[in-house]
Amino acid sequence: MSERLNIVDHNQLFRQEKYVRQREGKRAFEAPCSPEEVTSTLEYTKTKEYKDKNFARTAVVVNPAKACQPLGAVMAALGFEKTLPFIHGSQGCTAYFRSHLARHFKEPVPAVSTSMTEDAAVFGGMRNLIDGMENCIALYQPQMIAVCTTCMAEVIGDDLSAFLANARQEGALPEDMPVPFANTPSFSGSHITGYDAMLRSVLETLYNKSGRTPQPGHELKLNVLLGFDGYTGNFAEMRRILGLFGVPYTILGDHSSNFDSGATGEYSYYYGGTPLEDVPKAADAAGTLAIQQHSLRKTLGYMKRTWGQQVSSVSTPLGIHATDRLLEEISRLSGREIPEALKQERARILDAMMDSHAYLHGKRVAMAGDPDMLIGLIGFCLELGMEPVHIVCSNGDRKFEKEAELLLKSSPYGAEATVHCGQDLWHMRSLLFEDPVDLAIGSSHLKFAAKEAKIPLLRVGFPIFDRHHMHRYPIIGYQGALNLLTQFVNTVLDVMEEQAPDHSFDLVR
Ligand code: SF4
Repeated sequence: MSERLNIVDHNQLFRQEKYVRQREGKRAFEAPCSPEEVTSTLEYTKTKEYKDKNFARTAVVVNPAKACQPLGAVMAALGFEKTLPFIHGSQGCTAYFRSHLARHFKEPVPAVSTSMTEDAAVFGGMRNLIDGMENCIALYQPQMIAVCTTCMAEVIGDDLSAFLANARQEGALPEDMPVPFANTPSFSGSHITGYDAMLRSVLETLYNKSGRTPQPGHELKLNVLLGFDGYTGNFAEMRRILGLFGVPYTILGDHSSNFDSGATGEYSYYYGGTPLEDVPKAADAAGTLAIQQHSLRKTLGYMKRTWGQQVSSVSTPLGIHATDRLLEEISRLSGREIPEALKQERARILDAMMDSHAYLHGKRVAMAGDPDMLIGLIGFCLELGMEPVHIVCSNGDRKFEKEAELLLKSSPYGAEATVHCGQDLWHMRSLLFEDPVDLAIGSSHLKFAAKEAKIPLLRVGFPIFDRHHMHRYPIIGYQGALNLLTQFVNTVLDVMEEQAPDHSFDLVR
């Protein structure tokens, strides 16, 4: 007879005496500072003097709000049909990218590695790459292999182009197998740079392989790019909007199916993605619309220059104005009127914003994330009468900073804001102590600073590890604005109720 499993939650488990004793023994062995010293040092790190020292640091980064370049390259690769991400570098990096994406999407993430170790670091990783090609084709039968690098391969200067040519010469790689590749060292750039580099390489490789000549405007279709997007719901929302317009389209880089497969009892390595044959045809499209611009610079530049595409790009369309602009651009590129259904939707969302306005107006906010997401969030907060105060963008540059500052200047609610590019979440912690705010907005990484500052975190962006299914709900478009609004206002109401004295614990809000 099988015994019933008694699985103890870790919160209870580690309160058991043997674990308490184990921790005390470890603490005694490590001979730490006294509790008083820990408390006083912690308090010191909340002072203005410490903040100035924190902002003066140059040699170390603490908890940056960004991930490695190859992680973005893996996401870009998974946007295409039967494409296997292939990471030339160490296995540990690959495990990190896969687990990072799996923790956010709660889905398995197929990707292989050349597993470089000490010998490859000394003699170069060509053998690993050639053997890896042969193995992965035999095991996983991809239609395309998308190769990116980690720091190790970049530091020793492995030449991907030459290695791949040798792999073809040796017969490890069939002549007709497309192999886009991108150099993605993580000592520069971030996940968005890696995404951009890989997407551009995929488009270029498939286009060159087709031998076609671009004929922009020959097709009535629109090309649509969502960029590095952690929300599978955004893809569904974009399809819905384009469906209402009745515009034929091709999403270039659609990773939503790979990160949202169903439980059928059978596992496949590949789910959906943009069909490879659609890529060369995309050069004939009537126009290209991107809903990220900072994370797609190289790709959009390529499409403009080489395909002669009419390219329109907006930052992540969060809120009313940004969605208006998105719809205007779709209308302009496709020559179709904005559908009545979307106009009605806009009116309903505006009404919802007015309903919640009293609770959100004047709320001071700190936010961290990717450049395009932050531009969207700043715009939406200003529309709601919320006041962005601290904006940290670890992977932002001067171009982003200028755009953010211009947007903040457009509203009196942006008057107090400061934009911190290249700073990390330890900087954000200092900002939260020096100039407190009501709410924080960002990924799960911001939860530690938010907890210490005793403010709620509105989880928006990537990665969200500690809440479930948020990526399934769109945040773009009018529908996305309603989803964000619901999250924002209900969090504020939760806090209000937690703090309410009995006479204010009202039934109606
Ligand atoms: S920083 Fe470089 S070595 Fe470290 S995980 Fe990222 S790619 Fe790998």
